[in-house]
Amino acid sequence: MKHPPALSKHKARKRFGQNFLHDSHIIGSIVRSINPQPSDHIIEIGPGQGALTAEIVGHCERLDAIELDRDLLTLLLASFSIHKGFHLHNQDALKTDYRSLYCGRPIRVVGNLPYNISTPLILALFEYSDLIQDMHFMLQSEVVDRLCASPNTKAWGRLGILAQYLCRVERILDVAPEAFDPAPKVQSAVVRLVPKPSADIDRIQLGKLQKLVKQAFAQRRKTLRNNLKGWVSDAEMEAVGIDPGCRAESISLQKWVTLSDGIESQ
Ligand code: SAM
Repeated sequence: MKHPPALSKHKARKRFGQNFLHDSHIIGSIVRSINPQPSDHIIEIGPGQGALTAEIVGHCERLDAIELDRDLLTLLLASFSIHKGFHLHNQDALKTDYRSLYCGRPIRVVGNLPYNISTPLILALFEYSDLIQDMHFMLQSEVVDRLCASPNTKAWGRLGILAQYLCRVERILDVAPEAFDPAPKVQSAVVRLVPKPSADIDRIQLGKLQKLVKQAFAQRRKTLRNNLKGWVSDAEMEAVGIDPGCRAESISLQKWVTLSDGIESQ
């Protein structure tokens, strides 16, 4: 993409997690995996200087871009307001009410996310999974490891359990620091999250599952018996084949779901 002259004046801000993509091959690979369609409603989080926006906006019906940094708005409007479906929102993606952006068809969410807010943002977006067709995010590689993790690994925890309960999760692409300007200190990766049909998700059970895994992983080195003391009894764990003397990281998604199903809300 050819950037307008105003771009060169923008100094990347650390506090906004600004690492701008500048590798056209990587940008092309990400956009191909998103595969925007003419009828799509896409929400882009953190368009920055428009590296991804430029390759998507002409290929979908509507693109809502949510950008917190006021200094990027002029550039974004100058570059993309020519597209009828482009809507720019100067707001915090963590505080956005995504339901208010819903136009009647499933939303596709994309973004090279600011790494400092990526985990809370993904957890917040899970609340809207019934509206979402899919999500494609560039993240710190370690966060993608956690999203895709399996039991009995260090990466297995609250994020992976909730993600895999709600979505099909797929690691798409590993990205080296040189693809960004400035280059981050960490490796990055792109992940695809596809929410399961909303009919399959029991929201009451989801609430219990969220609380259960939060408490069970509160102190990873402690046993389940200790972390869940006063809420889940040994008998309730044993009834679903869980040894109360083991640690949370050894329990599979299926067992977490079965356990949360059988206990009272705290
Ligand atoms: N999409 C651009 C790219 O790939 O080059 C920029 C990605 S940069 C990693 C993250 C972007 O998110 C920045 O433009 C930053 O200003 C914006 N941002 C940071 N915190 C945000 C927040 N809470 N809500 C919305 N945007 C935010």
